[in-house]
Amino acid sequence: MSKLPPKLENLGERTQLVHAGRNPHEQHGFVNTPIYRGSTVLFPTTDDLLNRRARFTYGTHGTPTTEALETAWTQISGAAGTVLAPSGLAAVTLALMAFLKAGDHLLMTDSVYRPTRIFCDGVLKKFGVETTYYDPLIGADIAGLLRPNTAVVFTEAPGSQSFEMQDIPAIAEVAHRHGAVVVMDNTWATPLFFPPHERGVDVAIEAGTKYLSGGSDFLLGLVSANERCFKTLRKTYDAFAMCPGPEDVFLGLRGLRTMALRLREHEKQALDMAKWLGTRPEVADVLHPALETHPGHAIWKRDFKGSSGLFSVVLKPCSDKALAAMLDDLALFGMGFSWGGFESLVVPFDCADYRTATEWAPGGHGLRFHIGLEDLDDLKRDLDQGFARLRDADSRAA
Ligand SMILES: *Cc1c(COP(=O)(O)O)cnc(C)c1O
Repeated sequence: MSKLPPKLENLGERTQLVHAGRNPHEQHGFVNTPIYRGSTVLFPTTDDLLNRRARFTYGTHGTPTTEALETAWTQISGAAGTVLAPSGLAAVTLALMAFLKAGDHLLMTDSVYRPTRIFCDGVLKKFGVETTYYDPLIGADIAGLLRPNTAVVFTEAPGSQSFEMQDIPAIAEVAHRHGAVVVMDNTWATPLFFPPHERGVDVAIEAGTKYLSGGSDFLLGLVSANERCFKTLRKTYDAFAMCPGPEDVFLGLRGLRTMALRLREHEKQALDMAKWLGTRPEVADVLHPALETHPGHAIWKRDFKGSSGLFSVVLKPCSDKALAAMLDDLALFGMGFSWGGFESLVVPFDCADYRTATEWAPGGHGLRFHIGLEDLDDLKRDLDQGFARLRDADSRAA
């Protein structure tokens, strides 16, 4: 007996996360869509083959497993459609290649994820696309930077490492009047905390590597688009065939079901930790948009429904040696790139190394934290001991 999955339109977000992209009674009642591996798809007749008359036609164009995640992501993003990519950065490059051509101009936020910048300055430049970096806080004044050939305005909020809040609706309104496509890297908030297409974004990118995984155990990218942009995005995806492996897509579906719970817990833990860090004598500034002291707080409050587990602090001036003394012997915080997993991480950063449109000179070392799911008291003790090593190293040097 066949039974249809529930209609999701009027259901809550958590119910949608649980049910989207699933049809158990099409697969012998098993709850999860299985991993379809494959290249060749067989057609029953010559006519079907010659006219590609089938739901699936070849491995690179999709399988029931990839379609399940695309459908679910489209649903929770409020998009017209979604394509997948083998990493978050692949999702970024796919979105840019889809909407830019030789002779075009690209407006790129100066606070963007650094590898996106490397793609613009290398590959896009080679193909005749000019990139102008702009101040992330520009808002509607972006009008002054738009040229007749500006095809894409790329945004990311909050900014990578430095957490500037962009006024996405204001930027989108100006860009749309000009005919440009608005792309956003929405990895920090996910569609659960920032519904991109409702806020004026045409094409939204998510590094599924982060919170869709929640376990630092796979790489995946997702690109959702509205009605205006999905066809072009899908055509470009099919041309590149940058498809992720089936295991990773399956793990993405698995992560999706619990993503809301995990995000809320990361949010709670990170807010508590950010406030605690704000009371530390070694800390000059906490860069977390959900704190009232953050310059972008009003925008965050207006446009976002939550905050995730990633934020930064600026330390009071100390030596590189003292910083290393703090970080090298942390027992619970790991040091390494990426984030979004169950484990807490810290990385030192310096935006001054690469920014071109804005100045980064906060007067002390930057530290970016991802707060995981450990007991907060344990994490605070680890940092407390780290700060003691930092003070010690600094006073010995003095
Ligand atoms: C991590 C990250 C990416 C890239 O994701 P990968 O899967 O590591 O390639 C893109 N954008 C942002 C904002 C990220 O944090």
